[in-house]
Amino acid sequence: MAKHLNGRLLAARYEASLRASIAQHRASAGCPPPGLAVVRVGDDPASGVYVRKKAQACGRVGIESRMVHHVAVASQQEVLESIHQLNADPSCDGILVQLPVPSTLDARQLLLAVDPAKDVDGLHPLNLGRLVRGEPGLRSCTPAGVMALLAHGGIAPEGMRALVIGRSVLVGQPMGILLQQANATVTVAHSRTRDLSDHCRQAELLVVAAGQPGLVGADRVRPGAVVVDVGIHRVPPRQQGERAALCGDVCFAAVEPLASHITPVPGGVGPMTVAMLLCNTVQAWRQRCGGGAPRPAETDCLH
Ligand code: NAD
Repeated sequence: MAKHLNGRLLAARYEASLRASIAQHRASAGCPPPGLAVVRVGDDPASGVYVRKKAQACGRVGIESRMVHHVAVASQQEVLESIHQLNADPSCDGILVQLPVPSTLDARQLLLAVDPAKDVDGLHPLNLGRLVRGEPGLRSCTPAGVMALLAHGGIAPEGMRALVIGRSVLVGQPMGILLQQANATVTVAHSRTRDLSDHCRQAELLVVAAGQPGLVGADRVRPGAVVVDVGIHRVPPRQQGERAALCGDVCFAAVEPLASHITPVPGGVGPMTVAMLLCNTVQAWRQRCGGGAPRPAETDCLH
C-alpha cells in the first residue's frame, strides 16, 4: 500500500515556520507586515474558492492580503491600471493575477505587467527565464509544492525516470524543468503524445497534470512508482443533500495498492500550492525590507 504524501500536514509545517519567521523579522528589522494582493476579474466560482483559501492562509501566518476585484466586463486597461498601482505600492510585496481571466482579456499582457520582484506566482517571463537557467527567483507555486512534497517524503528524483503529463506554462513545463534540475531523466507528455500508457508504465516518478479526471488508472502505473496527482476536479453530488466531492487525474483507489507513494486529492498538492505562494510572498518581502537572499531553486522556505 502506498505511503501518502500528505500536503495538508506539510503545508501546516510551512505555515508555522513562516509565521515564526515573519514575527521574528518584523521584531528585529522593524518591517511592516508582508502584503499580498490578488487581482481577480469576474466571478468564476472555482476562482472564488481558491482566492478565499489563499486569503485565509495569509491571515494564519501574518501576511496582509487584499483583493482587487474587477467586474467580468472590465477592460484590459482597467486591470492593467490596478497592476501598475500595486507595482508602485510599497505595502504590497506580492501580486497574483487569479487565472483564468475572462477571454476578452489578454492574460499574457497582464502577467507581463506584474513587477517581477512581486511576481509571487512565478509566471513573469523573467522569472520563467530564471527558472530555465536555474537561477534564484520566484518559482511557480504548484511545481515548487510538488518538489517540496517529494523532498519531505524522502524521495530524491536524481536518476529516476520521471514522466510529467501536461505541458502548461503554469504546471507541466516548470515541473519538468525542476525535476531535470533535480537530476531526474524527464519525459513530458501531452495531448498529442502517442502511446501514453507505455510512457506511464516506464515511469518511476509520475506527475499527472492533464486536467482529465481518472486519466491514470492501475494499468498505467509501474509497480513501486511515486505518483503525484496535480489534477483537481469537482464531482457533482449523486443525490440531493450530498456535498460535491473532489477527485484528481489519478484513480486513487486503483493506484494506491500499486504505488510506493501517492498524493491524495484533496490534501496533496493543493495545500502545497498555497504554502508556496506564502513562501514566495515572504521571500519578496524579506528582499524588500532587508535580509534574506533569494532562495536557490532546489531548496525551500522551511529552512
Ligand atoms: P491545462 O489545461 O493548461 O494543461 C493541461 C495539459 O495536459 C496540456 O498540456 C495538455 O496537452 C495535457 N493533456 C490534456 N489531456 C491529455 C491527455 N489525455 N493525455 C496527455 N496529456 C493531456 O491545465 P493546467 O493549468 O496545467 O492544470 C492541470 C490540472 O491541474 C487541472 O486539473 C488543474 O485544475 C490542476 N491544477 C491544480 C493545482 C493544485 O494546486 N492542485 C494547481 C494548478 C492546476
